[in-house]
Amino acid sequence: MSRFITKTLSALTPYTPGEQPQDMKYIKLNTNESPFEPSEKAVEIAKEHERRLNLYSDPQCILVREKLAEIYEVDKDEIVLGNGSDELLFFSFKAFCDESRPAVFPDITYGFYPVFSEINRVPYKEIPLRDDFSVNIDDYSEKGCTIFIANPNAPTGKALPVETIEELVKNHPDDVIIIDEAYVDFGGESCVPLIHKYENIIVIRTFSKSRSLAGARIGFAIGAKGVIGDLNTIRYSFNPYNINSMTMAMAYGVLCDEEYTYKNCRTIMENREFVSNGLKSLGFEVIDSKANFIFAKTEKISGGKLYDELKKRGVLVRHFDKERISDYNRITIGTKKEMETFTETVKKILKAGEQP
Ligand code: PMP
Repeated sequence: MSRFITKTLSALTPYTPGEQPQDMKYIKLNTNESPFEPSEKAVEIAKEHERRLNLYSDPQCILVREKLAEIYEVDKDEIVLGNGSDELLFFSFKAFCDESRPAVFPDITYGFYPVFSEINRVPYKEIPLRDDFSVNIDDYSEKGCTIFIANPNAPTGKALPVETIEELVKNHPDDVIIIDEAYVDFGGESCVPLIHKYENIIVIRTFSKSRSLAGARIGFAIGAKGVIGDLNTIRYSFNPYNINSMTMAMAYGVLCDEEYTYKNCRTIMENREFVSNGLKSLGFEVIDSKANFIFAKTEKISGGKLYDELKKRGVLVRHFDKERISDYNRITIGTKKEMETFTETVKKILKAGEQP
């Protein structure tokens, strides 16, 4: 750090992204990407756009918004696009939180929420999950704040039903409730239909997981026109060209190939079942997941040690040092073959640990 950074920012602890190693080829189960390449259709459409990069991208992102509006049965003015859903989360902290309107979210959730609070100098309150890692909405009764819930939650994979979220939204008519649905396509229930009934809910989604575009960086928020307008105010005051034209073309192409997305989600859910059963038979406790990852621990080996041993053998998973979850590892669901190799590798590690 230089001596020039402002006092306010010198105390900021940035988010630590999952490892993206370039040194060797790992079985990469650490950042919840899709193991499947983007749809062929998307690649074809993107190719047509290569030669137009001399021009700025469409700040209104019309083609993608219209296609999303059709798929999610909303108006295109109820949608805004972000450079990854991370950017839309950041915009939400900017638009709906300040010193007098704190952010509220669970103690175990997406690690970017506290960072976005800090960079925006927003006070925040972390509400402990229950012992079984579920969110208890009765703990979110305080008014005058903005609530962020990842549903399904990360890194636990646990999900709340829509009725429970609706109760929360109804109980907070004067507060904005942000539902981060990055992982909803793997068996969760989406809150998008609630946006027609309530003006205070925003659903944030991403193309990074179910739609295989993590590297393209694109996400979208759906909500009533008022709150989406607020996010656009931030977007136009920051970077109106936040989605580059190659990414827009890829996203449009993916949306024209929804069957491919559905098929991949089904495969991920089958592979999740396969690896969960495999780990349980090895003595692991596996939390019931509605996401493209599982969260698992065993008494046979510590979370940190299992992470290290897997990495030595070319398998990357995600381990968090945070005390409450340090026994666990989060394992992204990959292809069947990757999950077979993962399970076999865990078996070998446990066996080696048993030997005197
Ligand atoms: N929300 C949650 C809960 C996540 O885990 C992630 C992925 N790290 C994101 C949002 C951000 O995803 P992206 O910016 O790639 O859309």
